[in-house]
Amino acid sequence: MSEAPATLTATALITGGSRGIGKGIALALGQAGLQVYLTYVSKAAEAEAVAAEIRSKGGLASAFGLDVGDSSAVADFFQSEIKDKVLLKALINNAGITKDGLILRMKDEDWDKVLGINLRGPFICLREAAKIMTRQRLGRIVNIVSIAGQMGNPGQANYSAAKSGLIGLTKSAAKELASRNITVNAVAPGFIVTDMTDKLDAATRDLYLTQIPLKRFGTVDDVASAVSFLVSDSAAYITGQVLAVNGGLYC
Ligand code: NAP
Repeated sequence: MSEAPATLTATALITGGSRGIGKGIALALGQAGLQVYLTYVSKAAEAEAVAAEIRSKGGLASAFGLDVGDSSAVADFFQSEIKDKVLLKALINNAGITKDGLILRMKDEDWDKVLGINLRGPFICLREAAKIMTRQRLGRIVNIVSIAGQMGNPGQANYSAAKSGLIGLTKSAAKELASRNITVNAVAPGFIVTDMTDKLDAATRDLYLTQIPLKRFGTVDDVASAVSFLVSDSAAYITGQVLAVNGGLYC
């Protein structure tokens, strides 16, 4: 197998980079000097604005519409936009959704939808990225999981199961891909202020706040810093790990 030409531009692909944590990661990796490819599923203008912000600071960035639940679209994207076109330094599996509900009332479609986007989607992206990174003999994969996948959360059986599954995928992929100089790690945010957590009611938010030892909710920059570290040369000997960014809520 041949290695990718050294002239290709080192690139980080971030799924769901249009807002929230993914946007923070995109800006941080752009700042770190990587070309940023960020994806969105519905918010094209927001995604284009993130790419424009990175370019305005002297970086390289492009936004792409890509539903991680559509496996053939994901495979086509890797073939048409990534393979032999860029050096795929990093894949950040960040895109995620919630469809909360108590188990007794949870519909099959809400289970399938969350597992499809939050677990099958990252698997498809990881598999397609691994095909390319294996040839490169180089790559960093970071899966954004959740404290809910570590400690469980009432009303989030589907989401917690998907994120626990993604931790298992992280550890298995780390072992399979290590011989090709590819590291695979997870970052597990606690309560981070984004559109996803804005949906929670005030009582739930207040309850979390009383339980967080550092006495504040996290920011997208708190998570982006952890991801930047795992992508950096400083983390070359770290693989198969789950780095919690949760203010001490679960340790
Ligand atoms: P968010 O603000 O709701 O943003 C979700 C992102 O995912 C958006 O960019 C969205 O794109 C994209 N997305 C959704 N469905 C998609 C699909 N089918 N295909 C491709 N992209 C899709 O979420 P967030 O709070 O930043 O969360 C980001 C990640 O962190 C998720 O994996 C989440 O589970 C995890 N997390 C978050 C928290 C938290 O407290 N916020 C805690 C733990 C873990 P559009 O903008 O185009 O819709």
